[in-house]
Amino acid sequence: MSVDGAIRRDPESAAAEPFDLIVVGAGIHGAAAALEASRRGLRVLVLDRGDFGGETSWSSLRILHGGLRYLQSFDLVRFRESVKARSWYVRELPSLVEPLVCLMPLYGEGPRRKTLLGPALALNELLRRVWAADSERDLIPGSRLLGATEVRNRFPAVRTTGLQGGALWHDAYVSQPQRVLIEMLRRVVSRGGSALNYVEATGWCLDDGNRILGVEARDLLTDTPITFASRAVLNCAGPWARGLDGANWPAGTESHAPSLAFNLLLDCPLDTASTVAVQPAGGGRTYFLHPMGTRTLAGTYHAAADGPGGTPSEAQISEFIGDLRAAIPGFAPARSDVLRVLAGTLPAKRVGTDDVETRDLWADAGARGGPEGLFTLVGVKYTTAPLAAKRAVKRIVQRCFPTVGGTGDGMTEPAPRPVPAWQEFADLARNHREQARVLVQAIVDNEGVTTVEDLLLRRVDWGLVPSEFDEAARLAGSWFPELVPGEAEPGSD
Ligand SMILES: Cc1cc2nc3c(=O)[nH]c(=O)nc-3n(C[C@H](O)[C@H](O)[C@H](O)COP(=O)(O)OP(=O)(O)OC[C@H]3O[C@@H](n4cnc5c(N)ncnc54)[C@H](O)[C@@H]3O)c2cc1C
Repeated sequence: MSVDGAIRRDPESAAAEPFDLIVVGAGIHGAAAALEASRRGLRVLVLDRGDFGGETSWSSLRILHGGLRYLQSFDLVRFRESVKARSWYVRELPSLVEPLVCLMPLYGEGPRRKTLLGPALALNELLRRVWAADSERDLIPGSRLLGATEVRNRFPAVRTTGLQGGALWHDAYVSQPQRVLIEMLRRVVSRGGSALNYVEATGWCLDDGNRILGVEARDLLTDTPITFASRAVLNCAGPWARGLDGANWPAGTESHAPSLAFNLLLDCPLDTASTVAVQPAGGGRTYFLHPMGTRTLAGTYHAAADGPGGTPSEAQISEFIGDLRAAIPGFAPARSDVLRVLAGTLPAKRVGTDDVETRDLWADAGARGGPEGLFTLVGVKYTTAPLAAKRAVKRIVQRCFPTVGGTGDGMTEPAPRPVPAWQEFADLARNHREQARVLVQAIVDNEGVTTVEDLLLRRVDWGLVPSEFDEAARLAGSWFPELVPGEAEPGSD
């Protein structure tokens, strides 16, 4: 057991010991499910065919939604779920969650009228008082309506024609979502679990009675087959869950079809301290623009998709940029301002649409005549992943481990490892090079890092901007040449 939660990649050792539960897919849902199961006392193995959190979860807009958006459709179930899930993050990982000021300019149009938003904000506050934890309410302030002048003061580039005022509320923001996921996996490992990246599940091992015995897999770094033993398997492969286990997919439903979603990191400042929620003049989808110093993270554009794992076309990127220009006259990004496209596949309600699914998919294959001990969870939001995972694990425990007790056993878990943002780290590296190297070494040695991309994109956020990636990669390569094969000279530091 790794008490400090060191994630060491050792597939052979993992294959030598039986696990209670194997979680396939280390996105936010897999990581959250693994954490919950390990806290209930199960010995858990997490497998991912790529790097931890390297797919959909990496592309999230990083907003932990409080639920205001769901009040517009009177979806109180989702509202409650969002508020409670946000409380979970605030309680469990307070150092990684911060309040996010959100501002939506209001015009005299449709649902974006002051007369509608005013009562919605009041109801938002009332329901938060009922469902949010105290710690969440302490961290995340409330909401109110603003006059047009205050909106202009806060957001000078706002479209002013017809501006009636604004709605100001607070969501929560995860500035380094990579750390959330890695901290979850460190806690799993500290409880006797194991987490392996670059290991692809290829099928299930079953006994003659159609009961799960484990997972057949391939170690993608050595290109060798490997088998892991367990009493239960949870398929958390996100957009690939159906491809992995189509035979046991719940029949008779068209939902959870693939759709494309993407955000753009733009090299243009937004000149506001708030995250703004805007629509193109004349209507259309609402986009969130989050200021990041001289840059802006904008999302989310949605489109139909043929299958999982697609990337947006140039036409879709242009349309997104056009929408942003039409929404904010003083903000005029060009294609050359796109620093990064963050794309992922989201479940849609119907094939060939971008009508995003709102309900998690849960399946117990054994209950429908499939393999006993095989389960599937495909969630719809980063925000609500911990609660979806809790429900899933509760059901797995009831079905397969009825003698296992409730959550938690009072064990101490590793404290979150603080990681500076890129500028802070770059300063440290300039002024205290050895301190900076030691900090990176702790991550490389203890967090299952195989490549420089693992390090800079999925353990820390230092590589989000490509020019910063290059600079950080040169530095990391000078210390750890094995991470950038063929690039860095050993001992060049
Ligand atoms: C552009 C965008 C913006 C978003 N913004 C937000 C937001 O602001 N707030 C919010 O709450 N939600 C947001 N979401 C939604 C949220 O990101 C997703 O709901 C969530 O990340 C899905 O997580 P997941 O674990 O189900 O899937 P993934 O993160 O895709 O994880 C699935 C994992 O399974 C692995 N895998 C697949 N097949 C196999 C196999 N055979 N063997 C082993 N491993 C396998 C993959 O490598 C992958 O790592 C956004 C999504 C997108 C795309």
